[in-house]
Amino acid sequence: MKKNALLRQNCRIFASMNYPLTIAGPCSVESEEQILATARALAQIPEVKMLRGGIWKPRTRPDAFEGRGEEALVWLREAKRETGLPITTEAATPEHAELALKYDVDALWVGARTVVNPFSVQQLADALKGTHITVLIKNPVSPDLNLWIGAFERFQKAGLTQLVAIHRGFSYYKESPYRNYPMWEIPIELKRILDVPVITDISHICGCRELLQDTAQKSVDLAFDGLMVESHFMPETAFTDAHQQITPEALAVLLKSISPRSKQAANDDQVLAALRGEIDDIDAELLQLLARRMNVSSQIGEYKKQKGLTVVQMERWKQILSDHLETGKELGLPKELLEKVFEAIHQASIQRQSSILGNS
Ligand code: PEP
Ligand code: MN
Repeated sequence: MKKNALLRQNCRIFASMNYPLTIAGPCSVESEEQILATARALAQIPEVKMLRGGIWKPRTRPDAFEGRGEEALVWLREAKRETGLPITTEAATPEHAELALKYDVDALWVGARTVVNPFSVQQLADALKGTHITVLIKNPVSPDLNLWIGAFERFQKAGLTQLVAIHRGFSYYKESPYRNYPMWEIPIELKRILDVPVITDISHICGCRELLQDTAQKSVDLAFDGLMVESHFMPETAFTDAHQQITPEALAVLLKSISPRSKQAANDDQVLAALRGEIDDIDAELLQLLARRMNVSSQIGEYKKQKGLTVVQMERWKQILSDHLETGKELGLPKELLEKVFEAIHQASIQRQSSILGNS
């Protein structure tokens, strides 16, 4: 995956960054007046580098507004002509991609519902072969990192090099204040593996205006590369996603309020270097401890084999977990972290013992 390091340098829209680089515009292009009024106001904001607007909308229920289609591409192209902002829209099928190219769209975004389907992603990649268009790849609806990576690989194999990730959060079964749970660790991992620019779509993560500011700050704090924000000249009248859209004026205020963070947490910062050294030592100790624990687990496996005992002793496992959660609470450790860590350790231990008992 080393060649992906080139993507960042290659990507034209990242050439002149005015941080936080922002892609803004309405959820849907609704009328000529709406897109032009919105685009004119957005063009006054220096951080806004690209205008977005949905032409074909993927809707949960069939009778909802599904976008204006081709006529809206005429208006979007007009907004580009007037403001000089490059434009992006969602393409879910080869026909969408073809029409978008016909109307001088600069970047296509692949929506979360499309990225879940490798057949659709492949069809799009095939349709774009031979072009040099920028493709913004949203994360799939489900928190599946490999599926997201797979989409990048399909476009890459088709010869497309201008690839950017859009993090828009994930469907999640637990209750949360977000429309789509951010699970920041997933885009962080994507960036580590592919080294692509990652833009945070705060609008679809939040689903409401109130959380936008904090989420934008979080994105900057985590050193992501920019924001996608839904902005509409009259958000309360929007045909789609009215609750999460903000006026261009509100967007300007939001962007001004973000505190910048240096990405180059400098190598010459001694305090940071010392603390990082401490983390490295602790990690080394953790590794030693994990290896010791797995060793003991193997010994238990041998013993269970001799005695004809089952690998999983459910009562014992429940007891261990509840003891650890109790201790962890006293130590101020998050319950979610402990559950994840001990579930993973327990799984690895079961696997080790199963292989000893010969039923792995
Ligand atoms: C959108 O950006 O308007 C959209 C439909 O996004 P997503 O695919 O992330 O739901
Ligand atoms: Mn939307």
